Amino acid sequence: MDLYEHQARELFEDYGVPVPKAEVTDSAKEARQIAERLGGRAVVKAQVKTGGRGKAGGVKLAADPAATELTARQMLGMDIKGHTVRTVMLAQPVDIEAEFYVGYALDRAAGRFLAMASADGGMDIEEVAEARPEAVARIAVDPALGVTADKAAEITAAAGLPPEAADVLTRLWTVLVEEDAVLVEVNPLVRTRDGRLLALDGKVTLDDNARFRQARWGASEVTYDDPLEEQAAAKGLNYVKLDGQVGIIGNGAGLVMSTLDVVAGCGARPANFLDIGGGASAQVMADGLTVILSDPDVKSVFVNVFGGITACDAVADGIARALDSVHLTKPLVVRLDGNNAARGRAILDGHAHPLLEQATTMDGAARRAADLAK
Ligand code: GDP
Ligand code: MN
Repeated sequence: MDLYEHQARELFEDYGVPVPKAEVTDSAKEARQIAERLGGRAVVKAQVKTGGRGKAGGVKLAADPAATELTARQMLGMDIKGHTVRTVMLAQPVDIEAEFYVGYALDRAAGRFLAMASADGGMDIEEVAEARPEAVARIAVDPALGVTADKAAEITAAAGLPPEAADVLTRLWTVLVEEDAVLVEVNPLVRTRDGRLLALDGKVTLDDNARFRQARWGASEVTYDDPLEEQAAAKGLNYVKLDGQVGIIGNGAGLVMSTLDVVAGCGARPANFLDIGGGASAQVMADGLTVILSDPDVKSVFVNVFGGITACDAVADGIARALDSVHLTKPLVVRLDGNNAARGRAILDGHAHPLLEQATTMDGAARRAADLAK
C-alpha cells in the first residue's frame, strides 16, 4: 500500500527526519486558516498517490491566505492522472538552494535493499536516471546490517550529497524497518538557503504482508490502482488489471496463471484476470463477467474452468444465468473440462448467444479468444 505524501511526512516527523511545517485538509476555507497559521504563504499540494504532481499542476505556491484558499478550491476535485484530489496539504514554503534525491527500494531479485541517491534531485529524477545513470548512486544494503552511520556516509559520498544527509539516511532506514516499508523515497531532499536539510516530498510504500502488525493506517486506507479492482474487491472477487486485450476468468489461481501463459503463447496479451475460486455460483459468474466486460481494453473474454468440487454444470448454470442479467457486448469463449463437463456444455448449448462460443481444449479456446481479440 502506498501512503499519501502527508502520511509519509507524518512518519518522517515521528522518526526525526526534518520536514517543513504542514497540515492537510479537504476544505478550501480551512486551507486559508492553515495558511494563516503557517505565516501567510503556503505551498498547496494535491494529495494523490501518483508521481509528477508538480508538472500536472498539483503543486502551487500561494502568496497569501486568500490565494491559498483559491488555489485549494481549484485543486480539490481536480483529476491528476486518473486520481481525484480529495485533500490538499498546505506546507510552509522554503527557499531552496539545492535539491537532492534519496531513497531505499526492495531489490527482490538480489534479496537486498537498494539505496539510491543523487545530487540532481527534483522533478526530473527519472529523466536524470535515464540520461545520466552515473548521476544516481546505487548501493546495496544488506537488510541484516542495515544503514549504519558508516553505510550512510558511504551513500552520501558516492552521490555527492552534503555529509549532514547521512543522518537523514539512517533515520529513513529506521522508518523503513519499523514501518515495514518496501520503499521509502524523498524527492526532493533540499538544502535551504539558511543551510537546513528538509524532506520536501516523500513516498512510502508499506509491505501489505505486514499489515496485520501495522494497525496505524487502518483497513479504511486500502486503495486500488484501478476502479475495477475496487469494484471487484467489494464483491469479494480476486481481480487483477493487466495491459492486454483478452479478459480472463478462471477457477483457481494455478489454472488462471497457466491460462495467462497459454493466451500469451497464442500471441495475445491478457487484459486482466479474475479468479472466481472454488464456488463459481451464478452470482459470482455474473459479477465476474460484469467486471471483465466493463474493462474498455477487453476485446474478447476467455472463461477457462476445470470442474472439481464445483462441477461444470454448476458453472455453466452460472454463466447461463449471468447472461440473463449481463448484456454481453464482446465475444465470449468458454472452455469447460473436468467434472460434469458434458452436462455443462449442453447447458450452454441450450443458451445459444451469437457472441458465445465453446471450445473443448484450453489451447483451442485460447487461440480462438486471441484471434477474436485481434
Ligand atoms: P512531485 O512533482 O509530485 O514530485 O511534487 P514535489 O512535492 O516534489 O514538488 C515538486 C517541486 O516543487 C519540487 O521539486 C520543488 O522544486 C517545488 N517545491 C515543492 N515545495 C516547495 C517549497 O516549499 N518551496 C519551493 N521553492 N519549491 C517547492
Ligand atoms: Mn517529488
